[in-house]
Amino acid sequence: MALPEIKRVLLKLSGEVLMGEQEYGIDPAYVARLAEEVKAAQETGLEVCLVIGGGNIFRGVAGAARGLDRTTGDYMGMLATVMNALAMQNALEQQGVPTRVQSAIPMSSVCEPYIRRRAERHLEKGRIVIFAAGTGNPFFTTDTGAALRAAEMNCDALLKGTSVDGVYDSDPKHNPEAKRFETIAYDQVLSANLKVMDATAVALCRENDIPIVVFSIREKGNVATVLAGEGTQTIVQK
Ligand code: UDP
Repeated sequence: MALPEIKRVLLKLSGEVLMGEQEYGIDPAYVARLAEEVKAAQETGLEVCLVIGGGNIFRGVAGAARGLDRTTGDYMGMLATVMNALAMQNALEQQGVPTRVQSAIPMSSVCEPYIRRRAERHLEKGRIVIFAAGTGNPFFTTDTGAALRAAEMNCDALLKGTSVDGVYDSDPKHNPEAKRFETIAYDQVLSANLKVMDATAVALCRENDIPIVVFSIREKGNVATVLAGEGTQTIVQK
């Protein structure tokens, strides 16, 4: 099963990839490397939307496990995604790519608020739009934020760049026999509770028929490779 023709894509990067080889935070050199990938994708003629997680800085669930109020922790997590978005915007603009950050939580002196029609206009003008602060609501994830924005922006696919090169039947880090799926149905991901994206995000993509491509962002040049339908990846489809 191949991907449909892609004109507009939403690229979701987990916050963790911004750490590079660090154990926490943002490695500007690695963010610059990621920005090159994003730029290369745009140079193939695509309109590119970006969503970046916040797990390299803060996750509400982790805070709650240590006694922090979950809702407060989630707002802190959403703020972390704004920091990541600004780091990526900086890296992209240093490489000459005009970029706008739109936050689901308005913070007018830092970035634009999320306004769909305005985001459309930015894309038409060749800008990359980074959607920050997830959905703007606690108890959600940036995967769900990515699926929501992909649906709202009529993206042809959601590319999820992570540390693994696809969806496996068990955790490849612990099981050397784990098998990677070339393609897999949304329903199978949900019923087998495979940890690709959270269930809300997968269900949203299923309802809106948006294929999810899971691939490793750690391999250099992989965004362009995956968009060309080559390399190692898993496509989650109907
Ligand atoms: N978050 C939230 N609502 C959202 C998106 C994110 O509350 O719509 C919070 C949540 O605490 C989450 C954190 O922001 O743990 C960082 O996002 P996520 O865990 O999705 O980042 P990733 O794992 O992709 O780095």
